[in-house]
Amino acid sequence: MDLLLQHIEHLVTFDDEDRELRDVDVLVRDGRVAAIGADLAARPELGLGPDAAVDVIDGRGLLVTPGLINAHQHLYQVGLRAIPELERAPIRPWLRGVGSRCLLWANQGRFTPEVVGALAAAGLTESLLGGVTTVADQHYFFPAGKTLPYIEHTIEAAAEVGARFHAGRGTLTLGWPEGKAHNGSVQSVDEVLRHAARLLDEFHDPAPDALVRIDLAPCGVHVDRPELFEAFAALAEDHEGVRLHTHLYEQIDTEECVKRYGITPWDFLVEHGWAQPRTWIAHVVDPPLSELADFAAAGVSVAHLPAPDLRMGWGFAPVREMLDAGVDVGFGTTGSASNDGANLLGDLRLAALGHRSVIAEPERWLSARELLRMATRGSAACLGRPELGHVSVGAIADLAAWDLHTVDRVGIHDPVVGLLLCGLSSRADLVTVGGRVVVRDGRCVTVDERVIARRARELLGDVTR
Ligand SMILES: [Zn+2]
Repeated sequence: MDLLLQHIEHLVTFDDEDRELRDVDVLVRDGRVAAIGADLAARPELGLGPDAAVDVIDGRGLLVTPGLINAHQHLYQVGLRAIPELERAPIRPWLRGVGSRCLLWANQGRFTPEVVGALAAAGLTESLLGGVTTVADQHYFFPAGKTLPYIEHTIEAAAEVGARFHAGRGTLTLGWPEGKAHNGSVQSVDEVLRHAARLLDEFHDPAPDALVRIDLAPCGVHVDRPELFEAFAALAEDHEGVRLHTHLYEQIDTEECVKRYGITPWDFLVEHGWAQPRTWIAHVVDPPLSELADFAAAGVSVAHLPAPDLRMGWGFAPVREMLDAGVDVGFGTTGSASNDGANLLGDLRLAALGHRSVIAEPERWLSARELLRMATRGSAACLGRPELGHVSVGAIADLAAWDLHTVDRVGIHDPVVGLLLCGLSSRADLVTVGGRVVVRDGRCVTVDERVIARRARELLGDVTR
C-alpha cells in the first residue's frame, strides 16, 4: 500500500541540493520515495484519488528526516550495560573487564546464539524507536573459538523487528603473547574464512534495497593477523557490495601496531590492501593529522563515535579536521559496553555539545545539520549505500519523523537544531524501513517492545552474579 505523508511541517532531505522544505507531502510507493511536493493528492498522474489504497499520515507538527544509520554497533553488548567496576574504567582495564565478563558469561553457559539473538532484538528495537533504520553490527566474540550461529541469530532478530541490517563478521585471530586477544576467544584465519564464505552465500544481498548485507570486519590490527586482512580484502573483491570494516586508532591498536610492525595503523591498512573505498573505520581517535588526506584520497570513510570518546576519557576524535580533509564521516554508537545504549540521537547531542570544549573557534564547532548529515548520508557512505540517507525521489524510503509538539520542544526556533539540542525525547514518532511502517505514534508496530525486553532479560538471567 502507498504511504502518503501530508503537510509535513519540516522536511530535511540531505539530497544533492541539501533542500529543506516546509508544509510538503512525501509519497512512498513500492518501498521508495515516489514524489515530494505540495498537495500530491491533487496530482492526477500519481493516482491518489478517493478510491486509491493509501495510508495517509498527517505530517503537521512533524520534522521528517532520513532514517538514522548507526555505522558501528556490537549488539551482543546489550547484555554488558552499566557494569559497576567498569563505570569509570579507561580503555585497558575496560577491555580486560569486558573480556573477562564475556568469558564468565560463556563459562556459565549464558553466551548462546539464542541469548545473543534476543539481546540483538532488544538493541534493534531500541534503535528503531530512536529513528534508526539501519544498523551495522560487528560480532567478533566466539568463546573457545567455536563458530556458533551468533551472527545468524542477529540477522534473524533484524528480520523479526524490521530493521535494515549490516552483519559484520568480526574476528579475533591474534592471541597472547603475539597479540592482545584472549586465547579463549581466538579463531584461526581458515575457520573465519570458512564461516565468512557461508554467511556471504546464505545472507548477503547486493541489491540496492537489500535488508541484509554481510561485511568483513576484523576487530583490529592489535588482535588480528595481517593475513586475515589480506584474505578479507580478496574475499570482498569477489562480492559486490561487501564492505571492509575495523576499529582503527583506538589508542591501544596504535601503540601495538607501532611496537609490533614499526608502522602506524593506517600504514598497516595500506600494506594489506585496505586503503580502498570499500573500507570504513571506527573510532579514529588519535590518528596523525597528516594521514587524514590519505584517508580521503583512498576513499576510506570514518564512523565517529562520540559516546565512547567521552566514556573512555580520551577526548574527541578530530572530526572537524577529517571534514576539512575531505573524509566522509558517518556516525555510530558502538556497543553498549562503552555507551551504554543505542540512542543515536542522544549521541548526536553529546557530539554537538562536546566538541566545543576542544575547538577554540565557535565557527568550527560541529553544527546540528552537519551532525545529522553524518548520521544519515555520512553513515550511508560508510556502508556503501548511496540509495540510503537522503529523501529524494527514487531513494529507498527509510524515514524518521519526530514530533515537534512535545512539551520539551516548545519554543524551538529551528527544528533541526532543536531536534539535537532540546529536551529528553529521543523517540521517533514514525519510522519506515523500505516504506514499511515499523514505528507509529512512537510505538513499535512490528513487535511488542515489552515482550522483546522480557525475553532478553529472561534468557540473559541474573547479570549481577
Ligand atoms: Zn567497536
